[in-house]
Amino acid sequence: MTAAAVQVLHEHGYRATPQRLLVLAAVGELRHATPEQILAHIHQTSPGVNLSTVYRVLEVLEDVDLVTHAHIGSGSATYHATDGPAHLHFRCGGCGRVQSLPAIIAEPFVQQVRERLGFHADVTHAGIDGRCRECAATQEQP
Ligand SMILES: [Zn+2]
Ligand SMILES: [Zn+2]
Ligand SMILES: [Zn+2]
Repeated sequence: MTAAAVQVLHEHGYRATPQRLLVLAAVGELRHATPEQILAHIHQTSPGVNLSTVYRVLEVLEDVDLVTHAHIGSGSATYHATDGPAHLHFRCGGCGRVQSLPAIIAEPFVQQVRERLGFHADVTHAGIDGRCRECAATQEQP
């Protein structure tokens, strides 16, 4: 992962600084994380890093397509590595749990939108709000 990441950074004219590799490793380990969570993870080994550095590094890593972000619920965006398949996020308004499914299931929807509006929808960029199975079941009871 690191060797490939170093190459990607170089191809885009960026140096593979320790901080960039540190943030990338944290995103990879945490799978889904806000900048604040990434910082907390990094602080376990490197207390010198601050939040604005994490934000700056995430911008670079997104620019070279090593990480991406999604808006799930309120608060900071959630970052993840781009090595996994594209997926949709479903956030429960009751318990806050986030579940995911492959983005491919939204393909008929995306196609309809493209046909009708010529609009290319990025369904992975925002989370979908709703109720998880358990919370929906609780709510239905009188
Ligand atoms: Zn995700
Ligand atoms: Zn965004
Ligand atoms: Zn729930």
